Order: sequence, then C-alpha cells, then structure tokens
Amino acid sequence: MQQYQLWINGRWTNTIDGGTMTVEDPATGKPIAQVVNAGRTDVDAAVKAAHTAFYDGRWSRLTPSQRSLALWKLADLLQANAQRFARAESDNTGKPFEFVSLGADMPFAIDNIRFFAAAARDTHGASAGEYAAGFTSMYRKEPVGVVGQVTPWNYPLMMAIWKLGPALAAGCTVVLKPAPSTPVTTLMLAELIAEAGIPEGVVNVVTGGNETGQALVEHPNVRMVSLTGSTGTGKKIMKTAADTLKRVHLELGGKAPLIVFDDVDVDTFAAVATLTSTFNTGQDCTAATRVYVERSQYNHVLEAVVEGMRGVKVGAQYEAGVQMGPLISGTQRERVQGFVERARASGAKILTGGMIPNDRQEGYFFSPTVIVDADQKSEVIQNEVFGPVLTISAFDGEAEAVRLGNDVLYGLAASVWTRDIGRAMRIARDLEFGTVWINDHIPLASETPHGGFKQSGFGKDLSAEAVNDYRITKHVMVKNA
Ligand code: NAD
Repeated sequence: MQQYQLWINGRWTNTIDGGTMTVEDPATGKPIAQVVNAGRTDVDAAVKAAHTAFYDGRWSRLTPSQRSLALWKLADLLQANAQRFARAESDNTGKPFEFVSLGADMPFAIDNIRFFAAAARDTHGASAGEYAAGFTSMYRKEPVGVVGQVTPWNYPLMMAIWKLGPALAAGCTVVLKPAPSTPVTTLMLAELIAEAGIPEGVVNVVTGGNETGQALVEHPNVRMVSLTGSTGTGKKIMKTAADTLKRVHLELGGKAPLIVFDDVDVDTFAAVATLTSTFNTGQDCTAATRVYVERSQYNHVLEAVVEGMRGVKVGAQYEAGVQMGPLISGTQRERVQGFVERARASGAKILTGGMIPNDRQEGYFFSPTVIVDADQKSEVIQNEVFGPVLTISAFDGEAEAVRLGNDVLYGLAASVWTRDIGRAMRIARDLEFGTVWINDHIPLASETPHGGFKQSGFGKDLSAEAVNDYRITKHVMVKNA
C-alpha cells in the first residue's frame, strides 16, 4: 500500500498535528493508499510556504514567458508519465482504465496545461492611456496572491489542473486540498510540478477532510478560495470566506436538462443521452440528468433511451469493453439508492436499473437507471443525484420546455435538440445555464469557459477567463507635468 506525506515547500513533509486516512479502490472497497489527514498547524505551514513564495517573487515576478515555459515542461512531463497517472487515477476512482488513458481525463488534462501555458502570456487588457488631463493611467493585471483551492473526487487530476493551471499562469501561489477519497494523482502531480522547475512553495498539497478545507478557507493569509464541489459546500465556504473578505470562485453542482424536439434523429439522441448520463457513472456536474421530450416523440425517445441504458456494460477498471465503473463510495451509493427508492415510493416508475447489479456485490456498483412519471417538483428532478440516473418527462411547446428546463436551483449546463436553428437559438438565449449545447451534450475544450449561473456558482474554469479570475487590476496614475 502506498503511503504519502504532505507536499509542502517543494518536499514531502511529516504532519505536525494531523492523523491518517485510508484511500480505497471503489471497484473492490479495498485500501490502496494511506495519506495524511492534515491538521490546522499543517495547513498553516503550507500557507506560510505559499505566502513566502508569493512575496519574494520567485514565481509572481517571473516574466510570463518564464512561467509559460515551466507549464509547458509540466505538460510534457505529464504526457511522458500518462500511463502511470492513468493507472493511479483509475485505481483510485474505479473508472474504466481506457476512458482515463484515452478519453476525458489524461489527454484533456494535458491539453488544459498546454492551454494555460499559452494563456500565461496573454496580457488580457493591461493597458495605458490619458483619462484625466495631465495624467497617464496604467492598468496592471497582478496575481491575486496565495490561493486556497479545494477539489472534488469525480475527476481528481483534471480538477486539480483546472484549478492550478490558471492560478499558476496568473502568477499566484497555491495551497490545494484534494477530496479525501481521491488524493493520489494530485500528490503525484505535486512531484512533477517540482520536476518541471516550478519553484518550491509555489504549489503545496495538503490532504484531509472537510475540517482541513475549513482551516484553509479561514486562514487570514489566503487571499482567494476556489472550490469545485457541491452547492452546500459552496455556501459554507462563501460564509466562512466573508469573515476575512476573501474572493471566492465556486464551481458547484448541476442538474442538466436535455430538451428534445420532435424533429431530431431519435437514435442519435438516445446514444448521446445514454453516454452522457452514464459517463463517469453520472458523477459529472454536467451529466445528462433530466430529459424533456416533445410529447409526440415521448414514447419513441423513451424506448430508445431505455434500450441504450440496458446495453451499458458495467464493470471494474481493466475489464474488456467496460463502459461504466462503480460509484465513488458506499456512502455515495446509498445516497443514489435513496433518491431512487424515494422516487419509487412517491409514485414514479423505474423503467430500468435502480439497483446493485446482481453480479457486482463487491465494490460500489449501481446500474444505469431511467425514471419516468416523477413530478417536476420532486427531489429526483430538483436535486443533484450524482449517479447514473436519468428522468424522462414530456412537454408541450417551446415555452413549457424552457420553463421546465429552468425550473431548478442549478444553472451549470443544458442542451437543446432540434434541427430548427431559430428555435435552437431562442432557447439557448432563454435557458439560464453557463453552457448550452445544441444537438450534443457535454463536449468541452480548454478554450471554452466552464462555470455556472444561479446556485451552480460563479467564476469560470478553463478559457482565458479563468486566468483573469486569478488576477486583480491595479490602477497606477502618473502625473505628466
Ligand atoms: P463536496 O462539496 O462534498 O466536497 C468538495 C471538496 O470540498 C472536498 O475536497 C471537501 O473535503 C471540501 N469541503 C467540504 N466542506 C468544506 C468546508 N466547509 N470548507 C472547506 N472545504 C470543504 O463535493 P464532492 O462530493 O467531493 O464532489 C461532488 C460535487 O462537486 C457535486 O456537487 C458536483 O456537481 C460538483 N462538481 C462541480 C463541477 C463544476 O465544474 N461545477 C465539477 C465537478 C464536480
């Protein structure tokens, strides 16, 4: 079993006041690693390292070109180590190895770093001009300072990179706390960051649970907190951050609707709905969760999606042809099962799934699930389940489709399916979501801003906007005379 210490000031560091935590493989429930559950003194040591590194300018005062080169080097190192990272990520999350190595996780994460290496050199509106007679004004885009970053367990390595990439490009220093269940690849990344020549103290990783995260958010020398996590955690962090008036950057939960009109190709839609509701076992903030179908096509779409969901091959990381792995933990599976049971009890019908597959008693597997006849106000439609669970409902007309799509507290991502471009554009305008896809669901690129409206939070991950979120504008005014 692997054992990890904390990564502080460019080296493995023993805990001062923490304990230990065990990390498990969700496909078997067996332990795979032991990490530190960091205490307040550990967090303080990590923040001190980041604070010193920020104020002596070893990173923040490098030229953008120097920071960019270090990030390129990091991307190359991650590429060279991709198989090792993919295996570790797959073992820690239960995801199909092929998906991690060839699909979303590794290739995208490497591309994300390359994007941020390039974005480090974008001056992003820094400019000078004469706006008051006799004075020249300059706008300096400066790094915010020490940033506390907190990540979830669904894409551990990619989430760490979505946080670190823009912060480092902007010149900030960081203390990052990964989710307690999936810290392994973030700790491995810390070592690569050192190998890439990013100076000691610029990136520090403290492992631990919610209390460790809380200590980081409370720390007076942390200038900004960036979280990807649930909406509940976002609210707590925002309240805590208010005491020291920190900036907050929150990527929170989602409940994505897919609005389907009667002019689409049903088989194409069903294939995408199946893939995007079971991808990462539905543990994705943009996962397909609520399908709304124009009534005339309701039965047809329903049949095609149910057939698709029944055909998904569920299994452990290295099994041939596996499309969907386990949920992350026993607790998460109980949560998902609870949603399904309460939906059933309230009169909804489970057309497929809703149970632990018979041949999967070990680990935390759950079968792809389709629910119909759930009330729009019921919790399975209103709340984030974070599992492979799709509800399907009918609508009549464009206005009702938009109303139902918007009728949740979340606003992260949505899709509209129609061949009528005018209708697609009207609906894209009217949906209150940070991303709206037309005739597809889930694709992202490093250039595309990702972030929520409403209770899905604010601030953007990915894109040049993300880098700007870690910058602060300073006005310098010079008297000409
Ligand atoms: P979570 O909110 O339980 O935990 C996220 C992180 O916050 C963990 O590292 C946790 O230890 C830490 N944390 C919890 N309480 C804290 C506190 N009071 N102070 C500081 N840190 C604290 O979320 P999770 O269950 O790990 O992840 C799933 C959630 O993440 C889902 O809601 C999902 O939608 C969301 N998510 C959002 C995006 C996005 O881009 N919007 C992407 C991925 C996941």
